Formats: sequence, C-alpha cells, structure tokens
Amino acid sequence: MEKKVHTTCPYCGVGCGVIATVTRKGAVSVKGDPEHPSNYGWLCSKGSALAETIDLDGRILHPEIDGRQASWDDALDLVADKFAAAIAEHGPGSVAFYVSGQLLTEDYYVANKLMKGFFGSANIDTNSRLCMSSSVAGHRRAFGADTVPGVYEDLELADLVILAGSNLAWCHPVLYQRLAAAKENRPGMKVVVIDPRRTMTADIADLHLAIRPDTDVALFAGLFSHLVSNDAVDQNYVAANTSGFAEAFAVAGCVSFGEVLERTGLPSMQLREFYRLFTTTEKVVTCYSQGVNQSSSGTDKVNAILNCHLATGRIGRPGTGPFSLTGQPNAMGGREVGGLANMLAAHMAIENAEDRDRVQRFWGSPAIAERPGLKAVDLFRAVADGRVKALWIMATNPVVSMPDADAVEAAIRACPFVVVSDILRQTDTARHAHVLLPSLGWGEKSGTVTNSERRISRQRAFLDPPGEAQADWWQLAEVARRMGFGRAFAYEGPADIFSEHAALSAFENAGTRDFDIGAYGGLTINAYNEIAPFQWPQPAGQVNSETRFFADGGFYHTDRKARFVAVKPRETDRTRPDYPFTLNTGRVRDQWHTMTRTGKSARLSSHIAEPFAELHPRDAMEIGVGNAELVEIRSQQGRAIVRALITERQARGSIFMPIHWNDQFAARARINTVVPATTDEFSGQPASKNVAISVRRF
Ligand code: SF4
Repeated sequence: MEKKVHTTCPYCGVGCGVIATVTRKGAVSVKGDPEHPSNYGWLCSKGSALAETIDLDGRILHPEIDGRQASWDDALDLVADKFAAAIAEHGPGSVAFYVSGQLLTEDYYVANKLMKGFFGSANIDTNSRLCMSSSVAGHRRAFGADTVPGVYEDLELADLVILAGSNLAWCHPVLYQRLAAAKENRPGMKVVVIDPRRTMTADIADLHLAIRPDTDVALFAGLFSHLVSNDAVDQNYVAANTSGFAEAFAVAGCVSFGEVLERTGLPSMQLREFYRLFTTTEKVVTCYSQGVNQSSSGTDKVNAILNCHLATGRIGRPGTGPFSLTGQPNAMGGREVGGLANMLAAHMAIENAEDRDRVQRFWGSPAIAERPGLKAVDLFRAVADGRVKALWIMATNPVVSMPDADAVEAAIRACPFVVVSDILRQTDTARHAHVLLPSLGWGEKSGTVTNSERRISRQRAFLDPPGEAQADWWQLAEVARRMGFGRAFAYEGPADIFSEHAALSAFENAGTRDFDIGAYGGLTINAYNEIAPFQWPQPAGQVNSETRFFADGGFYHTDRKARFVAVKPRETDRTRPDYPFTLNTGRVRDQWHTMTRTGKSARLSSHIAEPFAELHPRDAMEIGVGNAELVEIRSQQGRAIVRALITERQARGSIFMPIHWNDQFAARARINTVVPATTDEFSGQPASKNVAISVRRF
C-alpha cells in the first residue's frame, strides 16, 4: 500500500506544507500540500528536492563514546554523570546547551525545561540567535511581547510591500512567489527593495534602494520625521495606543533629509520617491529579515521600522504591518518555548519574578533560573575560557555557522565534555564530540514547527528510524530521568509534550500574554496526530480566534500601550586603509545552512556549485582579478579563499559571500572564519554583515 503523509518542509521560515508519498517498495516522493494555507501547494527548489536528501549516507546509526560505538545506556549514563558532576562541583552556570531552529517545538520545550527549570541555569541558546533575535528584542521593546502582528496574506493585500534586508526570492521563495503572483494580478501594487546588492528579489521591485550597509536606522528615522512633517501621523491611534512618540520624534526629527542622503548614499530622487510612497499609501507591509537583524544595530533598525508603522497606525489590519521573516523552520517555535537564553517559556520573561514563580509552579521544578543565561557568542566565549565544563550541541553546526568560527572550533575542542546530537557523523562540529548521539531526521521525527506567520504545523514521520536513532526530546528526557527528574519528564511521546506546552501557555493567562494555545492543552494522541495547521493565539474555547494583532492596540506592556523607541543613526563605516572593502554574507537559493542535507542533492548543487565572492567589475579590474579566478578575503579575524564572481549586481566597495560551504567542500571556504563576533547590544545577535575586509588576487 502506498502511504501519503502530510508534513512540513524543514528548511526556511515560510513553513510550507508537504505531502510525502512512500511507495510499497519504499521510494519517497514529495509535492506541495495544496491544502496548507501557507503555500497552497507551491514548493521551491529546496522543498521539491527533499526526497533526494534523505538517504542514509553519512548517518550516525549508534551512540558513540570517544569515537567508539556504545550502548544508549552507557552514553546517556555518561552524559548524566558529567552534567551532574559539573553542576555539583562548579554550579549550574558551568553547563550549557546550544540548540537549533531545526529542532521541533517538542524537543526545544524539553531542552528548555531541563536547563531552566531543573539545572537552574539559563545557559541554553540557539542558532536562532544568529537569525532573528534582533527582531525579538525589537518586538519586546515596542509591543511588550515577541509578537508578529500580521499574516502572509497581508503581502498580497498590501498596495506597497517594502522588503528591507530580505532576498525573499532566494531565502523565502514561496512567499516571494505569492508576492510576485499578487503583483501580477494587481499591477498597481508597488514593491520597494532595500538592499546594498541588487538581488534577484530586486527584479520585481518598482524601486531598489541600494543603501550603504547598516544605514537602515537613518533611512527609517528620516521616514518617521517625514511622516510628521507631512501630517501623515494617525493621531488617534498614537494617542490611544502608544507612548513615547515625542521622545522618539525628538531624536528622529534631528535626522535631516540631507543626513539620510549622506549616510545611505542614495540619490535624492529615489529617497523622495520612497518617502512619498510610504506617506501616501495606506496599505503598507514592511518585511525585514537578516539584512536588518544581523547587525550591531539590528534591534534599533527593527524599532526604526516599527516606529513608522505605529505612527501611521498601519498595523494589524489586512494589508498593513511590520513583518519579521524568520530564517529557520522553527525559529518561532523555539521562541514560544523560551529556547533563547534571555527568555523563559510561553513568551514569559526570565527577569520577571511572577513569571518565574508561575513557570516553576507549573513545572514543579526544584530550581528555576533567576537571570538570563549566556547568549550564543558569550556562550562559546565561556566554553573557551573554561567557565562551561559540559556542553550539549543539538542539530546545529556552530564550527561553520558561528562568527569567529576558528575560535569557536578551538573552544569546543578544548571543552572538557561535549555531547553532539545530530543526524550526520562527520560534521565539522560532530568530530569534536566526546559523546555522539544519533538523532532522528526529517521524515523520521514527529512534532510541530511554527512558521513566520505564527502558523503551527505538524511534521510527521513516514520513515523508520535508522539504526538506533532516537528523537532529541527522548535523549533529553532520558538524561533528566538519570539525574533524578524522571517524574517531570515522563513523556510517552511528542503529543504529551505539546499538550503540556499548550497548557503552560494558558496557565494563569487571562489575556495578559500574547502566546496562548490553551485550546490544545490535554490533547489525546489521536487529536495530536490529526492537528491541522493553525495560527496562534488559540485560547481554550476560542478555536480560530484572531489572526492579526494590534489593529485596536492591546499591546503587552502593563499599560497595554506600544512604545515608540528613540533610535539614533550610528557610525556605520567600518572600512580602514588596510581593510577597504565591506563584506556582507548571506544565502544562495538552493542550499540550506551548512549543506549537511541540501549538499546531498546533485540537482541543488548544480545551481551554484562552489563558494564565491561576488564583486563589482570595477573593483575586480582594480584588484586585477578575472571571473572565476581565486581571491583571498581577509579581515582582522581570519581569511577565506574562493573564486571571484564579477557582477554589476554588487555595489562598488562591497563583497557578498554565501555562508554555506565549509572546508570539506573547498579549502578555506568557511566564511565565518572571517566574520568577527561583534554583536548587537540589546539582542546579542552577531553582525554577519558590514565586515571590513581586504580582497586580493590569490
Ligand atoms: Fe521549504 Fe521554504 Fe522552500 Fe517552502 S519556501 S519549500 S519552506 S525552503
């Protein structure tokens, strides 16, 4: 009998529904799920190649201790003993988890509960820190909660869609297809792309603003000032639903049109046209992604955008609003369970004593973390200087993806005890593990993920577990049991965990917290298996409740008002005589993260087969390098050697390099060895853009 399973793509934050078909002989094919409300059957190249990436080549099939096959009991006993010993000897701050937006919500929930509620430390951070933590910080500053107000449909209903720091065509391809189709149907719709590089996304733009890197705060502060001068502020909305307008304007009002031109490098006509479009169009959606978030001023950029939407009351109504696009399949689910070092669970705040008390009572936990833990960059620094004695890395490859990657590798190598749970045996990170645990991959594991529009969908298993692989939540629960916490982690399966997570979101939540899926508390396994994609919030008794937030205010600060945030443009030029170029990193269309899965598909690799440095023809001429010749990219941090790709899409003085490749594909291709570990002061998100570098022919 042929088997058809409705599941969800494991790559980007669009969160497309997928139907996987398994034939009697075991062949797997995938197609888009026409009933999934986020993609209506569409898939991009990565999603449609999923069946080509699920072979068992390179999989870890058994637990290993120091490179030798071990039993689950021996491996888990050792993990429990080492973590218990570190906590007993050096305190809870001496252990850490580094997890991933690739985990399912159920895995994430158990990891967060064990670290924050039972170890008593908040040293759990995630690769989502590298992705959208500036948006989280910006949302919390403005809204009082990490709430994405809108839905994907808003991009289709808007008359003006602004894409700031987002190469939607390559990084969220199905959402781009929805936008492009809407624009074709309604040619009056305008699209503005804000990006230093002329990406494929800019091909549908009515206006492409090739701003200098990191000058978004000036651009949007100037817009805020322009809205005030042109009487475009929604005074009623501002008076009823916000505070801090005067203070924010006092700062933005000092940013003159001339200063914006000077900082951004834009032609005056383009800037005028952008400000005119925003001022005169009622239905505006501003999407922002890594070009905004991955910056030392990422949180300020987010708030500069939010200020403009709050000032015009363009939020929460169909076709209006600011919209953070998450990079990963479950970055949002991780936020919901509190999988960041500075969050608690169910969008509660670790700094808030009432929230801590509430979560501790709900969990029946012995020792709740009392202060935020170490964020990703600081976490690996603590590993490097010996403060962290035991580290558990799950479903991520920080030796390739973290900034200052060589230092991260050295830290992991020197750490007294490292556990890695993954599906592949030979990742750059896995080779430093003392204990290697085989996890389930896509198609084998079961749980939920949340996409960028707050839609929770099921990932369902349709393949047998290979070898002795086990779910990540099971590994964590088994370690918890061995450490004496068995009663609180006695889960039979992911349904139990999801049900507990849903109940916690509703616990003592009389509409005071945004995240509430209480309607799904106490689910039976059958009901869990049948869950259709839904958007939160879904409080008990209110299934299919509101899908948008804040049209009529109702923010989550104690006075229920949003906050304008006074944001000031900062110095953004990092170049100097010995490092005269600027490096921006990003993704290519057909690869995902560190290529541990997409790298298996010959079809996907045929799009772009090698890492590259994209540069402008005149820069190439001055350096004396031709297309496909090798160039050396050097920063104060490190160096990489890749082929030159010479295009007019690139601005002069600026280089683009993709993040995916590692040294196993090409010598010195790990671009994060070049990127320093500079972070945003509010979010702790690393600045993966605007790095000062030199470029020379190699
Ligand atoms: Fe998967 Fe994203 Fe492509 Fe959809 S757009 S198929 S979620 S990679």
